[in-house]
Amino acid sequence: MAVYLDNAATTSISSEVLEAMMPYLTRIYGNPSSVHSFGRESRKAVDKARSQVAKSIGASEREIYFTSCGTEADNWAIRGTAYAYAEKGRHIITDAIEHPAVLNCCRQLEKEGFQVTYLAVDRKGRISPEVVRNAVREDTVLVSVMAGNNEVGTLQPIREIAAVAHEKGILFHTDAVQAVGSIAIDVADMGIDMLSLSGHKLHAPKGVGALYLRKGINIQRLIYGGSQERGQRPGTENLASIVGLGAAVEKAACSLEERTGKIRNLRQRLEAEILCRVPGSYRNGPDDEAERLPGILNISFDGVSGESLLLCLDMRGVAVSSGSACTAGSLEPSHVLMAMGMEEKKAQASIRYSLSDQNTLKDVEMAAEITEDVVERLRAAIDQ
Ligand code: PLP
Repeated sequence: MAVYLDNAATTSISSEVLEAMMPYLTRIYGNPSSVHSFGRESRKAVDKARSQVAKSIGASEREIYFTSCGTEADNWAIRGTAYAYAEKGRHIITDAIEHPAVLNCCRQLEKEGFQVTYLAVDRKGRISPEVVRNAVREDTVLVSVMAGNNEVGTLQPIREIAAVAHEKGILFHTDAVQAVGSIAIDVADMGIDMLSLSGHKLHAPKGVGALYLRKGINIQRLIYGGSQERGQRPGTENLASIVGLGAAVEKAACSLEERTGKIRNLRQRLEAEILCRVPGSYRNGPDDEAERLPGILNISFDGVSGESLLLCLDMRGVAVSSGSACTAGSLEPSHVLMAMGMEEKKAQASIRYSLSDQNTLKDVEMAAEITEDVVERLRAAIDQ
């Protein structure tokens, strides 16, 4: 039986989410924009999901816009702000360990004449609010810093960074795709102006996300069309998936402590087992539990390639991710680990295990045992 430890890449749809979605995949199919009863029934479901998403992050319903994914929400927040505020200033601050959904969006803006500062992180992947303060310029219009990193799990001091941005009247966006459902988020309390989230990281389907946009902030829409999402994000709603997203965030928020407690215990067990069983293995990211996502574990193994390890683990039924991205056949070390000051060889010898509450102790024990064996074999093969 295979063990799935790649939940930061995507999660399975939970039975509760599927159950909530089923009527909207079968019986209830009206277009939410239609005025007849079929349409009204669908509209009611979209409204309910909007309310569930809003409640889960302390927002109001009118501040939630459904999107096709986290990437779209990131693009909309960043590019939409850049275009809307271009007269005021053309400088954006982000950091070196963001997801490509943010990094490549910023790189594109640079090609369009905007300027972007990519903040450095420390060895644990943390960004200090002071570093943000020092990067602020007269023409800065946006600070975008992720809430939780997808490769090493580092949580950023979002509240403090938002406060620094606000001191200068600058908008603050956070990519919370990995954080929503894993940590408590209250946008008002934390001073977040815009937040991106995605369904498939929290047991809802792929292809649905949302952008929280604080009331009163006007950014440029990226898609033109009908009047859906108050005209800001047109396109007929992905009804069943939106219902799934609503059910997923509600469940995640209600069971936050219990669920993350379970995930944390499992991850701690996996971490302890691997580090104890495998000599020359090192955990990457923060030591302090309060500074990391509960379910992400990034480990470097001396003398092995992360890519080979990943493939061998897969052959033995353990699904993980490598810390490196394979681009057109050439192995690029992870930009996250490199930004954390790791040397290239070690960065290429890293893999990420990521857990959900659907994992079991048996999964973790099996993964640790197989990791030990595979690393031993790979090292032995190199020595020959
Ligand atoms: N941001 C982060 C931190 C992510 O981990 C991901 C997905 O891996 C995304 C954005 C993109 O989300 P989506 O897959 O919904 O486009």
